[in-house]
Amino acid sequence: MAALATEGDIRRHAETLFAAAAGASPRLFDRKWWTGRLLEWTIRDEAFKVQLFRFIDVLPTLKTPTQIQRLVEEYFGQETAPRLPMGGRSLMRWGMRALSASGFGAGVTAETVYTQALQMANQFIVGAGIKEALPVLAGLWKRGLAHSVDLLGEATVSEREADAYAARYQEALTALADAAGDWRASPVLEADHLGPLPRAQISVKLSALYSQFDPIDPEGCYTAVAARLRPIVRAAMRLPVAVTFDMEQYAWKDLTLEIVRRLLTEEEFRAFPHAGIALQAYLRDTDRDVRETIKWATTRGCPFGIRLIKGAYWDYETIVHRQRGWPVPVFRRKTETDACYERLTPLLLEHADVIRAAFGTHNLRHVALALAEAERRGLPKKAVEIQMLHGMAEPLQAAVTGAGYRLRVYAPVGELLPGMAYLVRRLLENTANESILRQQYLGGQSLDDLLRPPTATDVAAGLIPAHLQREGVNPSPTAAAVAGEGSLQREFEFTNEPHTDFARPAARQQMRAALGVMRGRLGRRIEPAFPASPGVKHSVLTSRNPARPVEIVGVVTAAAPGDVDAAVARAQASGQAWAALPSTDRQAVLSAAAAVLRRRRFDLAALEVFEVGKVWREADADVAEAIDFLEYYARQAQKVAEPIRLGREPGELNHLLYRPRGVAAVLPPWNFPLAIPTGMVAAALVTGNAVVFKPSERAPVTGYALVEAFREAGLPEGVLQFVPGEPEVGRRLVAHPEVPVIAFTGSQAVGLQIIEEAARVRPGQREVKKVIAEMGGKNAIIVDDTADLDEAVAGVTASFLGYQGQKCSACSRVIVLDSLHDLFVERLVDAVRSVRLGFPEEPGTGLGPLIDARAVQKVLEYLAIGQAEGTPVLLPDLDHRPGPNFVGPAIFTGIRPEHRLAREEIFGPVLAVLRARDFDEALALANDSEYALTGGVYSRSPRNIARAREGFHVGNLYINRGITGALVGRQPFGGDRLSGMGAKAGGPDYLLQFVTGVVVSEQTLRRGFSPDLE
Ligand SMILES: Cc1cc2nc3c(=O)[nH]c(=O)nc-3n(C[C@H](O)[C@H](O)[C@H](O)COP(=O)(O)OP(=O)(O)OC[C@H]3O[C@@H](n4cnc5c(N)ncnc54)[C@H](O)[C@@H]3O)c2cc1C
Repeated sequence: MAALATEGDIRRHAETLFAAAAGASPRLFDRKWWTGRLLEWTIRDEAFKVQLFRFIDVLPTLKTPTQIQRLVEEYFGQETAPRLPMGGRSLMRWGMRALSASGFGAGVTAETVYTQALQMANQFIVGAGIKEALPVLAGLWKRGLAHSVDLLGEATVSEREADAYAARYQEALTALADAAGDWRASPVLEADHLGPLPRAQISVKLSALYSQFDPIDPEGCYTAVAARLRPIVRAAMRLPVAVTFDMEQYAWKDLTLEIVRRLLTEEEFRAFPHAGIALQAYLRDTDRDVRETIKWATTRGCPFGIRLIKGAYWDYETIVHRQRGWPVPVFRRKTETDACYERLTPLLLEHADVIRAAFGTHNLRHVALALAEAERRGLPKKAVEIQMLHGMAEPLQAAVTGAGYRLRVYAPVGELLPGMAYLVRRLLENTANESILRQQYLGGQSLDDLLRPPTATDVAAGLIPAHLQREGVNPSPTAAAVAGEGSLQREFEFTNEPHTDFARPAARQQMRAALGVMRGRLGRRIEPAFPASPGVKHSVLTSRNPARPVEIVGVVTAAAPGDVDAAVARAQASGQAWAALPSTDRQAVLSAAAAVLRRRRFDLAALEVFEVGKVWREADADVAEAIDFLEYYARQAQKVAEPIRLGREPGELNHLLYRPRGVAAVLPPWNFPLAIPTGMVAAALVTGNAVVFKPSERAPVTGYALVEAFREAGLPEGVLQFVPGEPEVGRRLVAHPEVPVIAFTGSQAVGLQIIEEAARVRPGQREVKKVIAEMGGKNAIIVDDTADLDEAVAGVTASFLGYQGQKCSACSRVIVLDSLHDLFVERLVDAVRSVRLGFPEEPGTGLGPLIDARAVQKVLEYLAIGQAEGTPVLLPDLDHRPGPNFVGPAIFTGIRPEHRLAREEIFGPVLAVLRARDFDEALALANDSEYALTGGVYSRSPRNIARAREGFHVGNLYINRGITGALVGRQPFGGDRLSGMGAKAGGPDYLLQFVTGVVVSEQTLRRGFSPDLE
């Protein structure tokens, strides 16, 4: 191995570049330009920065000058300020001043705002289309700059869009190669140490080539992506044009690497020497990925490019991984990223015989490092390529070309709409505290500062954005936030059980193995031990796989209505000792049950796949939620365990105590066959009640798994009675005089019946029954004219299709503002059509079967109703379905509020689209329902978001996200109106429904003396 470059070498190169670049300022930071002035304001005020970048993001969707003016006012005007939690005042002060100082703001026409934003975007984007870009690229070439064209686009949410993207790449390849043929020869740009280089290069994002790009299904993704990629690479080889594969989010990293390596190993592409990939030094994995890629390239025996960059999604990765409770894959400190970059630079150059190394950076030290390392190895100048983004660090770009090195700029081509997302990323990057450009051009850092090696320890906490600062690599956010807050601590220690990350091969492997094991257990016989009830005949419940109804998942001996009395009596008898235990003992049983579920996690998810037809992620999420309920209620129970002292007056001692109610009946549905019963059973048990649990007759095997888990966790015999059975068993339970509390989740019809039945006081009954009823929903999502369409389409698709629409939280109405109705519907229909219908055990399946033939029948009836009431824009293909219970999705437009499709809960993949003139009407339509469970809004208008917060009447309102998947402790769940009664599940009030409050007031004054007089 050659000696590494010394600090002296780096400094020598850096000084030359620095001197050459001296005096010039990149246009972005140039105060003569309004972008420079604006950026200066953003750096001074974080709140203003957030508003400005959000405004820029929404700007291209605004159609009229009035709309633009309205949004300027909403983002920067007086009205906004008081609503902002932080920085509101300063925002108002800075905001309007900054805007007027830079040309935006009060009195400025919408046209000016638009033009100026366009100008700002154009600084980074080389053209709206490839034709417009060609002259700019020719100009760059003339100035000695090569390019890599990136085709900006909206997220690919449908297969049609993936085809269109692939066609755009093809078009760009041909146009580029054609045009480049006329450019004058440039020895520096046209050859490196391994041979000639094509004049043109494109950067390709694999996620653009397949709408269902998802690491859960690498094989399916390979097939789909490779089908679109092969013609592109074929054309690139023929023309030739070099191709570099961009690296996107971490979740897609391994899949991207795998697809690229696998495709380029195919015989046809093995000898293509102008392909490469971008690898991100901010990832902990990258060290290993670089080494593996070098090894792979060596075996392949053909030059391969590695573009070493640091990565563009640091905030995103940090936030998303923390939200999900997954290890954060990026380094926490900028210096660690820098150190990784510095480790990998020599490594790449060391393998210059097979690796075409490119260094994508605007960091003076890292450019100098690459040059110095190449020099140390005796490599010619042409063996090192520096890359920068178009529109950034122009003085450094000029210095690098001036020094005789090849410089390539990343040249985005695209319309304003996708361009703005790119622009916001660049602005964020340039204004980040850690940005080297900001430090150099706005921070006025000296050369010494700029060249300080990353091992220095002085770059710590202060440079990490405040909102991301708290934790280390694998944080548990709430725990750290409140550590040390005394008695509340235990409650807050709760963190959600992370969902399985199916991007990990080990997780996929475990799930496959569990599915195999479960398949082997199909048909198993379950005989719960019923108390011997003389003369009672027991039938069976046969649980079938909804995807293949001939397959029997389990046969469960059913309780008969006549067993109910005995079950209640047993529960009552065993319940007394249970109620007398210290609360902490009961809490411990819940935690132990959580541990059992954790251990059986994949088995249980696999069982759900077979018993209720959930796809992998849905099944996994249900098990995680069950664990959450156990852990959360175990902690919450402490709040009702100890007497609460009320009042402080001397001479009296007032205590509020909570006592269990007795026997709780738990009647859950089949659609969350583990989580919902676990929540209800756990809440009842931990507060000291005994439980009679009747699982849904459509999911008795999963229900039994819960009973087994509690048994294994040490729950005393008899406290949890399992009575699988037909609805009559449930009715007997509800009517039983010794059952004072009923926890039900299910349809509105049954829920209302239960409430009515429970209200009747029967002979021998001593308590008014308490009913907790979670019922249905007719949930709406509003998409307004400022919505991010990519997100709205993806969010509505997921909320509508998740578990085939069989969630009470599912989206079944979407209310779209006139101005974007048609475009939205077109993209939505394509997106929904692109989701794969199939068997849930296949990882690539997005849409599985309905639960049974009855559900299918109901959906078919609504398809007929929908066709009579509205216009079908998507109908299922009933002639081609994998099995009798499969019904593909349907979407109807032209639905009006009085239509049945707009009012009735269907519980299947049928979506009603309603049109609204404006946000007021949209909100009125959304609220025009007897249900009020979940609701959502996609909007980037601060005013509309505020109005939805105040006036959208639902139990759970979601803004700019999907409306399903509520998390225990973070989004306690439950509806209003006829959607339900009772406190929210997974929230702080839930347990109170299973206890009765008792106040004990003792007069402590005796003979004129009381112990508490201070
Ligand atoms: C030609 C080219 C192609 C590109 N292609 C891609 C691509 O495919 N995928 C992609 O993601 N990006 C890509 N980028 C963008 C690139 O990642 C950024 O431009 C780059 O991160 C800026 O780095 P720098 O060396 O110029 O700046 P510097 O200011 O030296 O470094 C900024 C980097 O440090 C990271 N950082 C900031 N704070 C921290 C912290 N606290 N802890 C750890 N790290 C931190 C930032 O995330 C960023 O990556 C490309 C850039 C170029 C020039």
